[in-house]
Amino acid sequence: MAAPLRQKRVLLIEDEPGLVLTLTDRLKSEDYEVAAASDGPAGLERGTREAWDIILLDVMLPGANGFGVCRDLRQRGVTTPIIMLTARGQIVDKVLGLKLGADDYLTKPFDMLELTARIEVQLRRATAATSGTTPCLFGAVSVDFRKAQVLKDGEVIDLSAREFLLLKYFIEHREATLSRDELLNEVWGYHSMPSTRTVDVHVAWLRQKIEPIPRTPQYVLTVHGLGYKFVG
Ligand code: CA
Repeated sequence: MAAPLRQKRVLLIEDEPGLVLTLTDRLKSEDYEVAAASDGPAGLERGTREAWDIILLDVMLPGANGFGVCRDLRQRGVTTPIIMLTARGQIVDKVLGLKLGADDYLTKPFDMLELTARIEVQLRRATAATSGTTPCLFGAVSVDFRKAQVLKDGEVIDLSAREFLLLKYFIEHREATLSRDELLNEVWGYHSMPSTRTVDVHVAWLRQKIEPIPRTPQYVLTVHGLGYKFVG
């Protein structure tokens, strides 16, 4: 196989120094660019802030559980494939992880050939998904879900991950009246959130960014007494 034009970037979130060293050496020898984070918060931060082609995520991490990190990455709009690295026999955890947005699993100790094969599968899938996805268009706005990118009049709009998830949920439920409670549950997650006022604030921010005239919205409409509705 020909060498890729651009090195694929791997984020390794793992706290065992020996394993970090082994994996880093091996992946670099396979022409990947590798960065490591040794605890949950650092992994979440780097995973959110930088662009990666794949994330390898340990389950037992200092400062956080890998499943929590996985869930938080997805909630922040990160669509990068995630392979969880789990200890032997965590069957129940596997199901939980898949529900939280992981793409695949490897049970430690694993064979390096198996790891690189699994990575290649995920990279191929990601490429196929990108080329097969047509952006969603309304007015002057174009939304690319795979890239998590929104353009208005051809210019990239800087949406926060939460604003992007909110917009995505609106688009996926086009024409439906969505209550603030539903939006809180689905976009913010059932654990969090003090108040439905949060939804109003984010809707206002979203309108500022995507509506032609934010004060008289034509896409994200208020349904008085009930919530919001996306038309477009
Ligand atoms: Ca660990």
